[in-house]
Amino acid sequence: MVNKKAVKTALVLGISGQDGSLLATSLLKEGWRVVGGTRRGIVNKYWRLDELGIFDQVELVNINLQEPHMVLDIVRELQPNHIYHLAGESFVEDSFHLPRVTMEANYFGTLNLLEAIRTSSSETRLFFASSSEVFGSTVSKEALDEKTPFRPINPYGISKLAAQQLVEIYRERYGLYALSGIMFNHEGPMRARNFVTRKISFNLARLKMEGGTPMQLGNFDAARDWGLASDYTMVMPEVLELKEAQDFVFATGKLSTVREFLSLAAEAVGFVPVFEGKGLFSVCLDRSSGLKLAEVSEKYFRNFDTPPHKGSPARLLKMTKFSGSHDVSVIATQMIEADLHRRKIGHVD
Ligand code: GDP
Repeated sequence: MVNKKAVKTALVLGISGQDGSLLATSLLKEGWRVVGGTRRGIVNKYWRLDELGIFDQVELVNINLQEPHMVLDIVRELQPNHIYHLAGESFVEDSFHLPRVTMEANYFGTLNLLEAIRTSSSETRLFFASSSEVFGSTVSKEALDEKTPFRPINPYGISKLAAQQLVEIYRERYGLYALSGIMFNHEGPMRARNFVTRKISFNLARLKMEGGTPMQLGNFDAARDWGLASDYTMVMPEVLELKEAQDFVFATGKLSTVREFLSLAAEAVGFVPVFEGKGLFSVCLDRSSGLKLAEVSEKYFRNFDTPPHKGSPARLLKMTKFSGSHDVSVIATQMIEADLHRRKIGHVD
């Protein structure tokens, strides 16, 4: 049931995605009216809302951020207290194949939104989900923060940085309350299957329950700062309630490799993972059964992979009640549990 008595309204753009569905869940718990923006045409896109049990509690509006008039109409009519812009293209590797689509979705979508807020709902507060990809080629032993220079190295990073800087300009030039969350990788059971963590949990659940061929991965030694998505979405509303708008890094400050994540997830599913070989010939086996769990395929090896970055959550820890993300072992365990359960009930998304 939609909450008709709610006094505060949030418009969540990208509500069918990982972050949108998790954020909607926490906003509903806090008594907000949640309006979710979605685009028509994606098949079975509401599985997350169904699984989280909130499909009937959110109001869905069809909105294409590329159409300024559509964005304007909705923002003007709704006059939301908060807008969370979590929509757009999110898969870095695809941005090399779809550079223009990525730019249009991520940059022009944000521009249309900022213009709509500026011209018709200037009290609305905006959270824009930017990305650690804005740091691009920076290599540093130190954790990166809001003051680290930006050096994107792929079309996705460029689109996010352009949008992030636009948010900053509208904040400074027009006095809008608008900020960017510079989101380091964040994972969990709601992650889409093209991202490496979910690819791993999905396939390990398959191998545990049905056996079959090993999963194919890229570089086992690639590393990321992986946080738990629900820990980050939980704090998003709080950053929009602070006195002054400013950008925030969302990160854990710790790096883990694909190999480490694979190992933790394999243990969580009950395998005993062992690694053999090097580089392109690396494999991961279950020691007890001899089952091959993962092997390397050149197809998933990225020629222009972004170097590992760890981010500093210091500002977020200081300014909000955020107490840090759960550890990567908790993330792996949660993801495995969800994928085993889905496979048991025959729901494989
Ligand atoms: P990204 O950091 O936003 O690109 O998130 P991904 O989950 O797609 O990739 C995280 C890291 O895992 C990157 O360094 C990838 O190169 C690496 N990786 C290794 N094998 C794979 C794979 O099979 N799929 C994906 N998506 N990434 C992989």
